[in-house]
Amino acid sequence: MHTYVVLLGLPGAGKGTQARRLVDSFGLYWISTGDILRRIALEEHDLAQRVKSIMESGRLVDDETVYEVVQHYLESEESRYPGVILDGFPRNLRQGEMLENYLETIHHEKGLHAVYFDMEPERVVRRLTARRVCPGCQRVYNQESHPSSMGDLCEACGEPLIQRADDAEAVVRKRIQTYLEETRPLVDYYERLAKLVKVPADDTETVVYKRLAALVERWLHSDSETLRL
Ligand code: AMP
Repeated sequence: MHTYVVLLGLPGAGKGTQARRLVDSFGLYWISTGDILRRIALEEHDLAQRVKSIMESGRLVDDETVYEVVQHYLESEESRYPGVILDGFPRNLRQGEMLENYLETIHHEKGLHAVYFDMEPERVVRRLTARRVCPGCQRVYNQESHPSSMGDLCEACGEPLIQRADDAEAVVRKRIQTYLEETRPLVDYYERLAKLVKVPADDTETVVYKRLAALVERWLHSDSETLRL
């Protein structure tokens, strides 16, 4: 059985950072809908313009568009990996149900586990407004917790670092509101399905990582055991 790990939590709670480490350690397939949509937004067509303006307002892109993207990535790649990390999807109850239906249709048996990154909203505002990214290599820094040793330039490629448009404070506050209204109900949804694990996310990156790595190792093992039975 395939393992699916859904990362839930406020934007800025560390999901992307932890996803990258888990992908490196366990060879998982990583789907970040935020990253995919940001790439689409750079293109030159009507859909790209629509996606760009929605993202810059802090609202959610429509469910059908996002689901189509996720389904495409899952169908084309997932079979080559032991498991998938879903970072940023599902983002509301409807998307949660779309994912359940997809997994039921494809796999019948589902090894889905949701991890909730528990963090206070005000902590997230401080973290996100201090975030800087390299437009060249996409490396992520944080002026508070993980600054570049080269000041405003990327350590890896020397490009001037930028702030993502959706990390501006007003947009961050709107994203938090969107999260509380739309995404937070998924925490209760997965709890009712007995698929939720809560992880305190305000510890250091390494402490959070160790907790997650222990969980993922167990899930990969137990889900593949289920396949053999
Ligand atoms: P993120 O980097 O995950 O915080 O996503 C950045 C933005 O992309 C969000 O504020 C949304 O506008 C959009 N987005 C990402 N994932 C989804 C999703 N599953 N459904 C709808 N919109 C999304």
